[in-house]
Amino acid sequence: MSEKISPGMQQYLDIKADYPDAFLLFRMGDFYELFYEDAVNAAQILELSLTSRNKNAENPIPMAGVPYHSADQYIEQLVSLGHKVAVAEQVEDPKTAVGIVKRAVTQVITPGTAVDVGLTTDNNFLVALDKAAEKYALAYMDLSTGEFKATQLSDFSTTLSEISSLKAREIVVGYALKADDRQIFEKQMNLMVSEQFDFEDIHSSLSALENQVASKLLAYVKRTQLRDLSHLQEVEHYEIKDFLQMDFATKSSLELTTNKREGKKHGTLYWLLDATKTAMGTRLLRSWLERPLISSSEIKKRADIVQLFLDNFFERADLIEALKGVYDLERLASRVSFGKVLPVDYLQLENSLSNIPGIKSVLLAMKSPALDPLISQLDEIPELISLIHNAIDESAQRVITEGGVIKTGYNEQLDKYREALANGTSWIAELEAKEKEKTGISTLRIDFNRKDGYYFHVTQSQLGSVPEYFYRKATLKNSERFGSKELAEIEEIMLEAREKSSILEYDLFAQVRTETEQYISRLQKVAKAIASIDCLQSLATIAEKYQYVRPVFTQERRVNIVNGRHPVVESVLGAQEYVPNDIKLPEQTAIQLITGPNMSGKSTYMRQFAMIVIMAQIGSFVPAELAELPVFDAIFTRIGASDNLISGESTFMVEMMEANHAIQHATAHSLIVFDELGRGTATYDGMALAQAIIEYIHDNIHAKTLFATHYHELTDLSGSLKGLENVHVATLEKGGDVTFLHKIAEGPADKSYGIHVAKIAGLPSRLLERADIILQKLENKPVVRQASEEEKEQLSLFPVEDNHQEIIEKLKEIDLDDMTAREALNFLWELRDDL
Ligand code: ADP
Repeated sequence: MSEKISPGMQQYLDIKADYPDAFLLFRMGDFYELFYEDAVNAAQILELSLTSRNKNAENPIPMAGVPYHSADQYIEQLVSLGHKVAVAEQVEDPKTAVGIVKRAVTQVITPGTAVDVGLTTDNNFLVALDKAAEKYALAYMDLSTGEFKATQLSDFSTTLSEISSLKAREIVVGYALKADDRQIFEKQMNLMVSEQFDFEDIHSSLSALENQVASKLLAYVKRTQLRDLSHLQEVEHYEIKDFLQMDFATKSSLELTTNKREGKKHGTLYWLLDATKTAMGTRLLRSWLERPLISSSEIKKRADIVQLFLDNFFERADLIEALKGVYDLERLASRVSFGKVLPVDYLQLENSLSNIPGIKSVLLAMKSPALDPLISQLDEIPELISLIHNAIDESAQRVITEGGVIKTGYNEQLDKYREALANGTSWIAELEAKEKEKTGISTLRIDFNRKDGYYFHVTQSQLGSVPEYFYRKATLKNSERFGSKELAEIEEIMLEAREKSSILEYDLFAQVRTETEQYISRLQKVAKAIASIDCLQSLATIAEKYQYVRPVFTQERRVNIVNGRHPVVESVLGAQEYVPNDIKLPEQTAIQLITGPNMSGKSTYMRQFAMIVIMAQIGSFVPAELAELPVFDAIFTRIGASDNLISGESTFMVEMMEANHAIQHATAHSLIVFDELGRGTATYDGMALAQAIIEYIHDNIHAKTLFATHYHELTDLSGSLKGLENVHVATLEKGGDVTFLHKIAEGPADKSYGIHVAKIAGLPSRLLERADIILQKLENKPVVRQASEEEKEQLSLFPVEDNHQEIIEKLKEIDLDDMTAREALNFLWELRDDL
């Protein structure tokens, strides 16, 4: 027989029915309780003790609870593990409630909507995706800062790459998702997938599909947050084409913002360039690195200011000091909107705003029109400063309910209560002294606690001296608590003042909060200006520290980097250790083929180039003595072990997919970096593909390309491809030791290098001789080179010419038996050259 369900449990079950996919935290007194499956699972995850609601029943209901004051940390733990949490609060005062206290869910916290998680300054983007007619629209939002953007994307792989770049943890899907795609989101990208089909009307200038995805995202946020969201900014359109394009694999293999080992910032370009002083600056710098510019005038605007900050050393030092006093205005603004703002937050806000005039005057002192747009955005919001200054007590703490938040002088009534309290305090001191003398109890003192109110504290040994007009309030182990008529009178006045003042103070604080709401958008605007200023000073500080130069952008597609360095490797190795390298690609050279032994520095050289391009295009100075380069529109890479978004593919498959992506999307203005392409398959097949890819890029794309390879045979391509140039990494052999010079030099690498190293390593000479013979054989194998369509056409188009007779004669004369394969090949080349 089923047991009777209590009304409280029924309320729980009703609420839970609306949130089947979330842990439901059900507020009961000082605890949030979980029941049934939720209790069993949460007990395990959070290491809570599992009890049961009705122990003696036939089927006890499993139960686990967390104290309300530490609930945040448990919620954070659940959410960071990818769970949803719904919080049901008591929504009426238990004291006045009739029957069961009403409860309702007041917030749903999900990985993408968690705003107070940890102390990190990172963005937490919640992404939404919608689809119509094979086009995708993506919107993203950071609830903690109010940032809200949308774009349209043409295919699924670009969409995946964009989502990965945003490092989202949750995706809100607005269409029926295919099982395969869900699998990719959930299993490979580790995203929580939420659905949202209804939308919220928003008016924007976005395209229809973008508007749809943005409005679904907004509806989802409203549905889960159930609170004021006035800090959300208007949704803004962006185009990935307006920025230097790099897919997720590229950003990740270049370690722009997260390292490969642990997915953290350490050792990345972001880490190196980050000398920002504010949380807003830190976040903005990362987004600059994720999206370098392609407009040379926009780049110039940033670089001009970096230059200016470099030139004004002392002003910059003052600027940095002032920036240090600016707290996270964006997050403070969102806390105001959420109603989560604490008394100390106001002090931080005031402090931050009071630094703005200082920042403004340092910038003005630099006397440059370049700074005007930033200066004009620096609004110290004097109305808000004076509101806080007048209302909030300088010694206010985090808690709102304990008093001491509102400043004396702000509200007359509050001052009166406080006076009563102060008087009461001195009355109590007087009473304590009087009774001490009267009773002769030397340790007599008056204390207060919530349960017993005001009382005389008397220790065990002095109980004998207690007068009869004291009455017992409580008995403890070693002492007793007494009241008296006189004490009770004072107590009444005090308690009333205390309670009234605390209610009033709470109300006043809420009023201040409401009044602050009108400044949210102004705060966000200042925050943006501060973020830019901070990023630019950071770039100047780093440029100075590592002696970077301002890049010069050329109209022609010509690269001339003198003594370039890889910024991160250099900072780790030290400037003395690092060997700088020139990177010279004249207009007509599209491809540099780089050969050299393993660990000689090929990959570092190529990355160095990509890093310099990215730095230049975020407005930074670059690690070189001179850097002339064009503005690139995209960077494609195939470097190192792949992080395959689409797992289950072989390394070679991923290599080919990435190569294909580059070939399909690159233009003459792109940069392609291929490291050891083709290595994932059998030698000749890989080499053939590598060669064909090089030829394709050379003939059809003309993108500037760095191609490192261990297929030495490919170096011969310089004979047939005019725009290909060989370089190699130089090595030095001295006294039997081989040193990697890490220096890039013209021409192909020495072929027998490997055997050379083996010799130094002490391998038996017979073995080495044998290796030499094998090498000879392999090298004499001709490179199979297919004629291109154009060549074939030429062959058939032109009639046999005069010198062809000559060539036929030569062919007849030659003794093929007497030739090595290499000689034969050379002979063939000669003949062809004669044509
Ligand atoms: P490869 O791609 O040829 O295998 P890497 O570029 O990975 O070689 O370089 C191997 C190591 O050599 C790097 O980890 C780095 O420590 C060092 N190295 C590379 N380039 C330089 C350089 N220019 N100056 C100093 N050390 C370098």
